Amino acid sequence: MIKNIPGTNFFAQNIFCIGRNYAEHAKELNNPIPTSPVVFIKPNSSLCFDGENLILPTQSNRVDHEVEIVLVIGKKGKNILVPNAHEYISHLGIGLDFTARDLQDKAKDKSLPWSIAKGFDTFAGIGHFQVFDGNVLQLSNLQFHLAVNGEIKQKGNSQNMLFSIPQIVSYLSTIFTLSPGDIIFTGTPEGVGVLKKGDSLEAVLEGYSTLSLGVVSVE
Ligand code: ZN
Repeated sequence: MIKNIPGTNFFAQNIFCIGRNYAEHAKELNNPIPTSPVVFIKPNSSLCFDGENLILPTQSNRVDHEVEIVLVIGKKGKNILVPNAHEYISHLGIGLDFTARDLQDKAKDKSLPWSIAKGFDTFAGIGHFQVFDGNVLQLSNLQFHLAVNGEIKQKGNSQNMLFSIPQIVSYLSTIFTLSPGDIIFTGTPEGVGVLKKGDSLEAVLEGYSTLSLGVVSVE
């Protein structure tokens, strides 16, 4: 199904994600600090939108929240240079990269991919996006947070990214041709935690975007 990206004129295309992009989060999961961006992809079928519910899958006993700044690509590009990367970003917003941590841990132990742990239906929550005004300096000082049942659980600022937003866009474009409607999750700060049925989530990119989701289990 073709899905519109809220706040944009684009249909959602690829969903690229960066893992371990904040040192404190890498540490809390006992992961090494990466020397190049850790990249994975979520399927388009995993998208979920403001006002909807995360559906906890029966296959997992531990689904974690990861609040992340999310970018929308506005023009086609390949081998984009870091100083030009901001020109390819059309919108900024907030998202939740849900992760079946138990399944991810099993996959990691066996050196298997994370597609299942990251790819269930509703595992890519995105809020309403705002146009990015092109001010590259803003990209290195974006403040965001997540509240679960009204209590702040994660707080982040893009200045603490290991790979900056322009570096991420540039790096991804050396591998993938980026196109309008591509969505990029940029990694989560520390404070990830497990979710349960009935939780209510409020993610905010300050000045830009909000995302409210409930949590339900499969009936
Ligand atoms: Zn993530």
